[in-house]
Amino acid sequence: MRRRLFLQFYVTIVLSLLLVVAAAGLMWRAVQNTSTARSAFDFAGELAASVLPNAAAPVAEQKAALEKFATSLHTDLALFGADRSEIAAAGRPLPVPEDWQETGGWIHAPGGHAWAIALPDGRWLVMRAPRHAPPRHPALGLVGILGAIALAVAIGAYPIVRGLTRRIERLDEGVVSLGTGDLSTRVKVEGSDEVAALAQSFNRSAERIEALVASHRMLLANASHELRTPLSRIRLGVELLKRGPDARRESDLEQDITELDQLIDEILLSSRLEAIETLDRSEPIDLLGLAAEECARYPDCGLDGEAVTVGGDPQLIRRLIRNLLDNGLRHGKPPVDLTLRAEGGRAILIVADHGGGIPATERDAIFEPFRRVSGRTSSGGTGLGLTLVRYIARRHGGDAVYETTGPTGSQFRVTLKC
Ligand code: ADP
Repeated sequence: MRRRLFLQFYVTIVLSLLLVVAAAGLMWRAVQNTSTARSAFDFAGELAASVLPNAAAPVAEQKAALEKFATSLHTDLALFGADRSEIAAAGRPLPVPEDWQETGGWIHAPGGHAWAIALPDGRWLVMRAPRHAPPRHPALGLVGILGAIALAVAIGAYPIVRGLTRRIERLDEGVVSLGTGDLSTRVKVEGSDEVAALAQSFNRSAERIEALVASHRMLLANASHELRTPLSRIRLGVELLKRGPDARRESDLEQDITELDQLIDEILLSSRLEAIETLDRSEPIDLLGLAAEECARYPDCGLDGEAVTVGGDPQLIRRLIRNLLDNGLRHGKPPVDLTLRAEGGRAILIVADHGGGIPATERDAIFEPFRRVSGRTSSGGTGLGLTLVRYIARRHGGDAVYETTGPTGSQFRVTLKC
């Protein structure tokens, strides 16, 4: 059976309190039994002996002195010999010290308590203790007070401990519900302590998982649709080739297979980049050198800028630049200009072309998978080019956005962490 956390907390608090009470009781007893406490009675005995006549003095003299002493102290007194026989008494009767009693101390007297004081000559002076004298077992009084405190803490701690563990139980229910597939599960964040921080982290993680699963679902649905086009072309090409060899059809078929291969590759890459937090590979990249290599692949590409080094995956950065240059030439119009500069610990890469640009309402949507500018026909891309550009930039500590500049042309701005 699961041990309830709140019971563990609660029992720990109550047990520690009981321990404190027991320790305090023992300490009190130890203090009571020290020689210092006893010596107070011995000291009183010495004093009393010096005030009273000695043991050999006549009884009448001892009695007179005792009465005088009782009057000045406003209490009852009794004097006993070493054999415990009464020599004299003043006031109400007092008990004889017990035979076993060897040193002074508290004794029980009718109607209260008394002090039995041993005189050095063996006599005993018994004195009624004042009304406000401490109880016979003072340790019991202390234990009582501490016990009451313990009880108060035990009662007061219960709702706090129970409240805390109830919140943990609710978190547990949230985790179970998320685990069973309800990705919309969120838990209530109460207070601002560690449990609240845990609830916030849970909600953030649940939100991310929900978004990731939704976007994967979307990608899968769109990808199946996009995969069908080259597949049906391949099927048709194969059917036609069955009728007889045709060099053009064969080359078309090869082209379709390459396109399909590229599409699958980009789907897998985009889904991997979306899910990961950090890159598998990271090394210093000479961004200007890499951009120069990519620009050299196109006849109408201009490069301008300063040398910047960024940390990351060179293959992915190469892909990012290639996708942007490709788009500029396919969807825009040459020349395509690439500029590079460093700014506040970031590399800024700008790719601009001279085409028709992208309508304001679609500038953010084109970064979503398989989004194309409405009304424009697809010109050979997979529909994942800009999605990959954004994911790659984000995994390199930056972002990719479409920038508005002049009336014509598109401009994409990519930031990368240096
Ligand atoms: P693809 O190029 O494969 O269609 P992308 O994700 O690279 O997919 O681009 C998405 C859409 O954004 C393109 O279909 C195109 O309509 C538009 N687009 C991208 N780059 C440009 C550009 N430089 N100029 C005009 N439109 C562009």
